[in-house]
Amino acid sequence: MTCNLNKGSFSDASRARRISDDCAMLDRLGLTREIVARRLRMFRAAAETGIGRPVGIPPHFEAVMDDARGRLPCPFGDARAFAKLNTTIRNLATGESAVVSDLALHMIEEHGWFGDPASPFRLGPELLARIMELP
Ligand SMILES: [Zn+2]
Repeated sequence: MTCNLNKGSFSDASRARRISDDCAMLDRLGLTREIVARRLRMFRAAAETGIGRPVGIPPHFEAVMDDARGRLPCPFGDARAFAKLNTTIRNLATGESAVVSDLALHMIEEHGWFGDPASPFRLGPELLARIMELP
């Protein structure tokens, strides 16, 4: 169901295991990567209207987009590249925030990749669900 991933995107065993673990976590949370990506896109679209200024999103969210210029290629070998656009999503009720690049959004949506556990840039399903108040 949520874990039907493109087998071609598995280039190493540890990455495949991490994707599988994140899929299991999504199941436990009652989410799919499509639901997470849809919510991320909603925040991204709101942030885009602010042109660098924070945009309030009811009931208690804020999102701001910044542009670092340049492009980043997807590491999954699908020949896609993304502008270095970062959307910062803040939950003003809890004070938590996450910075989600366009590349990260693509990797979540298309590859089920939420980042390496050791990476400071990891955006785990449980963190995103908490900040965006999903489901
Ligand atoms: Zn890709």
